[in-house]
Amino acid sequence: MLKVGITGGIGSGKTTVCKLFEALGVAVYYADDRAKFLMQHEHFLIDQLKQNFGEEIYDHGQLNRAMLAQKVFGNKEQLALLNSLVHPVVFRDTERWYQEQLTAKPPYVLKEAALLVETGAYKLLDQLIVVSAPLDVRLQRVVARDKVAAAEVTQRMNNQLAEEEKLKLADFVIENNSDLEALKIQVEKIHQALIEQAKRKHE
Ligand code: ATP
Repeated sequence: MLKVGITGGIGSGKTTVCKLFEALGVAVYYADDRAKFLMQHEHFLIDQLKQNFGEEIYDHGQLNRAMLAQKVFGNKEQLALLNSLVHPVVFRDTERWYQEQLTAKPPYVLKEAALLVETGAYKLLDQLIVVSAPLDVRLQRVVARDKVAAAEVTQRMNNQLAEEEKLKLADFVIENNSDLEALKIQVEKIHQALIEQAKRKHE
């Protein structure tokens, strides 16, 4: 089974692309969603977060994400600390998920994460897909989707590596500056290429 990563900047269309892969029967691990789940349910991680960011970030067992975000926003050290606590837990969870997928013997599975390159997690993957879109398009999409101010999105973008750095590491690039039909055509091509690659690896 090939382990394929899919990444891209905020609003590039990672989730949209993953839904198209899922429609082709591909299993996807959504690392960012899974991280949110684990911060709410993994006791070891919850204890670590409380110790480092204060008991008050959980209110009756519910993580106050806005409060945590406030504590780390614009503070690179605190953000790095948060990542250093969350990422190993997500990493272990990904490994468990890979094991589960093996029983279905898929040619490949996908791991979607915004920070695959920044965290170095891409090094553990066989192939990397980068979803690319112009900055202004990404900004407009996220503002429309999340109903937030452009400045807030720009701040989030500043915590990510520039797209060109991710593109240098890409095995496949998906250009998402047009409609869904254009996206589908690219996804189908990559799907076939990955199936071929998995076959060759198996021979
Ligand atoms: P994030 O990093 O914030 O999780 P993402 O990279 O997963 O974002 P999506 O959520 O897939 O991006 O896309 C951002 C928004 O743009 C969504 O509302 C999505 O429906 C929309 N979108 C994505 N691609 C297109 C497209 N080709 N045409 C129109 N809208 C699109």
